[in-house]
Amino acid sequence: MKLLELKKKIIYGPVHSRRLGESLGINLCPKGKKVCSFDCVYCQYGRTAVHTLEPVGLDFPNVEEVREAIREGMKEHQESVYVTFSGNGEPTLHPDFADLVDVVIELRDELLPNAQTAALSNGTALQFPKILNAMRKLDVPMIKLDAGNPDLFGRINRPCEGATFEKMIEGAKALPKLKTQSVLFDGPLQNHSGQPLDDWVGVLTELRPLEAQIYSTQRPVPDLNIKVIPPDRLQKIAEEAGRKAGVEVNAYF
Ligand code: SF4
Repeated sequence: MKLLELKKKIIYGPVHSRRLGESLGINLCPKGKKVCSFDCVYCQYGRTAVHTLEPVGLDFPNVEEVREAIREGMKEHQESVYVTFSGNGEPTLHPDFADLVDVVIELRDELLPNAQTAALSNGTALQFPKILNAMRKLDVPMIKLDAGNPDLFGRINRPCEGATFEKMIEGAKALPKLKTQSVLFDGPLQNHSGQPLDDWVGVLTELRPLEAQIYSTQRPVPDLNIKVIPPDRLQKIAEEAGRKAGVEVNAYF
């Protein structure tokens, strides 16, 4: 099965995201590499090549290269409503992520004052104060939440050493503008019903994000046993989970 190609440039899009609208994407991974502290079973970029929480010796784009790419991207795409750290890996693993958050905010203020700054993160680096502080500066810090207990977290997200469920949850709790994103799916491994769903609702109740976004996998996925959840089921989960957790839960499909 052909998976998505890794991004070729720092800036991509704007992509019309199901959850963010017109979003100008920033990919901070070294060219041609997926660097992530997770190796999610459904990742559309395939298996994680560099599976670590603290990458060393990699050819990440430097701050000036990223600054220039963002400046050009913002000038060219004035229609963007979000400027989002995302890409084919975990953006907070860039060694200068905290400085790059300041760069994005400065350029947004100068060139796209109506846009919001955002990051799609797996939350595992929030255990580092520098990353937590940087994420707190963004308008929309979004954290992946696919599982409500450490065992399922381990089997779905396949974290590297040091990337624990407990630390991720602790970090997410320290983000006042937190939104969560969850990929729900069916199959031999599933997180949309029974105990897995109840545990996930329990964590939402504890985290109280401003919004919990749910969606299902999009093709292609690397594991053919992963089954997509149909829109009507997603909608039902959103309504029930929202009611139980006292949180706004929105389904995207
Ligand atoms: S966190 Fe994102 S980039 Fe990393 S493995 Fe999971 S889906 Fe892929």
